[in-house]
Amino acid sequence: MSRVINFSAGPSSIPLEVLQTAQAEFLDYKGCGCSIIEISHRTPIFEEVLFSARDKVKSLYGFGDEYDVLFLQGGATLQFAQVPMNLYNGGVAQYVNTGVWTTKAIKDAKILGINYEVVASSEETKFDRIPKDIKFSDDADYLYICSNNTIYGTQYKEYPKCKCPLVVDSSSDLFAREIDISNIGLFYGGIQKNGGPAGVTLVVVRKDLLDRVGANVPSILRYKTQAEADSMSNTPNTFGIYMLNLTLDWVIKQGGLASINEKNEKKAHLLYSYIDGSNGFYKGHAQDDSRSLMNVSFNILSKELEMKFVKEASEAGMIGLKGHRHLGGIRASLYNAITYENVETLVDFMKEFARKNG
Ligand SMILES: *Cc1c(COP(=O)(O)O)cnc(C)c1O
Repeated sequence: MSRVINFSAGPSSIPLEVLQTAQAEFLDYKGCGCSIIEISHRTPIFEEVLFSARDKVKSLYGFGDEYDVLFLQGGATLQFAQVPMNLYNGGVAQYVNTGVWTTKAIKDAKILGINYEVVASSEETKFDRIPKDIKFSDDADYLYICSNNTIYGTQYKEYPKCKCPLVVDSSSDLFAREIDISNIGLFYGGIQKNGGPAGVTLVVVRKDLLDRVGANVPSILRYKTQAEADSMSNTPNTFGIYMLNLTLDWVIKQGGLASINEKNEKKAHLLYSYIDGSNGFYKGHAQDDSRSLMNVSFNILSKELEMKFVKEASEAGMIGLKGHRHLGGIRASLYNAITYENVETLVDFMKEFARKNG
């Protein structure tokens, strides 16, 4: 077996142990004589998987009984519309624009015709930072942010301390660190970056917000429908939820979110400090105090060298390093499944590449 080091932004690397457990259990799930993907979601066997994943999400983050945990479909992208459909309450919805994903969320707010306001943006400087001193109104219907900007490589160190419900797109830093949940109204993410395969969106929503939903929102798009049905109002992505549950077991085995965060800090520090010390051969995109621990976006002296870098890295067994088309350059995604040793291998390759091409 030969596996590459996968620095892809999503879908992305999954811990080998998780893949091996899924492989071992695939044909005969715990003695039931069939695969987990062949049984009804209405069986106790599957319900146990779903409830177990739900309970792990709650205990890892510390979400109490005032929250519902939902496993939905339609990607993180559907949340750009589902959030305003369910949480807009006739007042004003506030957004902080920090990149492609928030731009899309704002676009959907506009299409839906709600009253919204962009209270801060880093667009002028090509989204290289998280805006400081965000001026929000505490009685807005909600304040919407993106925790980690997968493309530009920026991340909130702390969430805004608004008194209105905070809505957080955490797709690319799910299960990567502890968060302050005191003002969270809704916390969500597609799991394909840091929690398993594509096709499941984790949504954690405060129960008292469920009744805000607009009168003409169809049943399946109401959080309330899925909350009342334990996410099984229709057939959920059973395989995705099963994989998420295995990944959460792995996260717990790593020592939980604080311990995972410590590892992520060390990994990111190794790469950023090498980039900073490379005499300008490599140049990071994000400003220092906004740097993401998850996605490290950087440039090399020329476009030709960037293409050569991606090609030679791939020949050396490292894939997924080509930057997003919006920004170009190189992007190394250092999600939870990437080890410190993997980052050392990348940095060694970068040193050698700079030596040969500098
Ligand atoms: C990947 C990503 C999305 C889009 O996710 P889909 O599941 O493809 O809809 C949204 N927000 C962020 C922050 C992302 O990283």
